[in-house]
Amino acid sequence: MGIIRELSDSLANRIAAGEVVERPASVVKELLENALDAGATQVDVELEEAGMKRITIRDNGHGFYPEDAELAFVRHATSKIKDEHDLFRIKTLGFRGEALASIASVSKVTLKTKREEQEGIQLTLDCGRLTDRSAIAMNRGTELTVEQLFFNTPARLKYLKTTHTELAAITDILNRVAFAHPDVKLYAVHEGKVLIQTNGSGDVRQALASVYGHQTIQGTLVATGTTADYQLTCHLVKPEVTRASKNYITLILNGRSVKNFALTQAVLNGYHTLLPIGRFPIAVIEVTMDPLLIDVNVHPAKREVRLSKEAELCQLIQETIRLTLSRQTLIPKVTPPKPKKDPSAQEKLEFSYVAEPVEDLSSRSVWNYPIPKRTEAGNEHVPSANRIQPPDPSIDRPDEPVPEQVDEPAATGPKFPHLDVIGQLHSSYIVCSGADGMYLIDQHAAQERIKYETYKVMFGRPLEQKQQLLLPYTFEIASDDMRRMDEVLPLLRDVGIELEAFGPQSFIVREVPTWFPSHRQEETIQELMDEALMKRKVDLETYREDAAIMMACKKSIKANHPLNHEMMRQLIVDLAKTEMPFTCPHGRPVIIEWTTYELEKLFKRVM
Ligand code: ADP
Ligand code: MG
Repeated sequence: MGIIRELSDSLANRIAAGEVVERPASVVKELLENALDAGATQVDVELEEAGMKRITIRDNGHGFYPEDAELAFVRHATSKIKDEHDLFRIKTLGFRGEALASIASVSKVTLKTKREEQEGIQLTLDCGRLTDRSAIAMNRGTELTVEQLFFNTPARLKYLKTTHTELAAITDILNRVAFAHPDVKLYAVHEGKVLIQTNGSGDVRQALASVYGHQTIQGTLVATGTTADYQLTCHLVKPEVTRASKNYITLILNGRSVKNFALTQAVLNGYHTLLPIGRFPIAVIEVTMDPLLIDVNVHPAKREVRLSKEAELCQLIQETIRLTLSRQTLIPKVTPPKPKKDPSAQEKLEFSYVAEPVEDLSSRSVWNYPIPKRTEAGNEHVPSANRIQPPDPSIDRPDEPVPEQVDEPAATGPKFPHLDVIGQLHSSYIVCSGADGMYLIDQHAAQERIKYETYKVMFGRPLEQKQQLLLPYTFEIASDDMRRMDEVLPLLRDVGIELEAFGPQSFIVREVPTWFPSHRQEETIQELMDEALMKRKVDLETYREDAAIMMACKKSIKANHPLNHEMMRQLIVDLAKTEMPFTCPHGRPVIIEWTTYELEKLFKRVM
């Protein structure tokens, strides 16, 4: 006698539930998707104990036919597809016919539903088995209640995290649905506390505001782009607002929120150098495309998808974001916080859009610094500590070439305000006046941005001319680095540094590119070499990029360095010509602004 047998439906469902229903948030997700597929314009969610005790989802969608209601709880029973042809043209969120069967098999479910012209019915199920069916009176739509989730699967129950964590997972789902379906009025409440409430206006920015607050999303940018295959709309919260994880990037493909590493990376590439290291933007990326181009049948919970033209979409996303951001004036405004109960809080200054401040300005005592006195002579006055100093030969003058393609900032570049230099603060910040207020520029960050863009262009260019060195430089290579020199030499050659073998463990450099910074060349070559040696696997483009950032940092004026008026003026002229003047290549701000209005408020000229 054989030993193979077909599993009972209830066992098969429980096995499937292991994949589809990981936690209360998965139930919320599946039921919300069903409501949306039923054409609901309003969905209410009620939760107890983060959904572990009870989840109720009510919608005003088309409801179930009375004769369908029981069948819906059978595995692979669906109204959304009927054959293979449909499987490749999915326009609904659901299609696997698994969710209700899976959920019901691990909980106690009550379904109330009514379709137009039909009578309302109520079903109760226990572990997926029907225990009651009756007629009820109700309005069109569906209400599904899931109680005691996982009560019959103790291992899964044990695996659940704290209420707090499970609730956070649910909130994440709710937010994504709100962004993907701003035309649906979504309301969710957990034990009396409202988790989300959207107005169904159809405007993603409204949904963003209901999740993050109006203050945070002020100035959110909308970027659009199209190719023959894709229509893209990006909602980009200003890059000053950052988060510690990538989770605040929402990707919506044909109305479905998905996770996709490559597309997320494309978003981040679009923000390149505008975000501090380890910080991530808040963005909603919506893409519509022919369903034939997207395979949604990859993951049991439909979280991941496969795209047939992924590279094309990545390119579109990256370029659309980059172009949009490069046309903006992205200067963080400084606002003193409103007086709070805590009197010490008044001392603090914060960036107005930064929800989690990257840097606490109060520690820099900017605020306590006496404002430089103006003389009758006007703006030209430089406070005594900052009197014109002879240029220091140890720094490169900020008069090195800037990339040609950004020579016309007015036409393509971002809106950089016209600024007049007032003076220097702590030999580190340039104080400027502009039409809208007072500006502080971090001199190091500013020059880093200028040099980074210059070096990047130079590194990317085919080598034109070289200059012979009067005294060639020789370098000794440590024996454990010698093994990697074969990989390193081509990288250095690419950026214009030709190393010739010179003895068993030494190399010699006889010439450098003409644009190469003249100061401390030997040290610079050593650093370029170290940069290449440090990396395990390097492609050329990454190396050029990292080398440009490294060299820009090393070659820029540091803080605590006095500059004369002309040097400061030149620095600002060059900065205004860059492609992205508002952050240094590490994503830190270059310039901050006190608006005239804020200043007037502080001096109580306006109330
Ligand atoms: P799928 O969504 O993949 O079809 P489900 O198990 O989630 O599978 O649902 C099974 C069927 O039940 C759906 O195809 C749909 O016809 C019906 N259904 C589920 N939820 C609703 C709802 N809220 N309103 C109307 N019909 C629903
Ligand atoms: Mg479904």
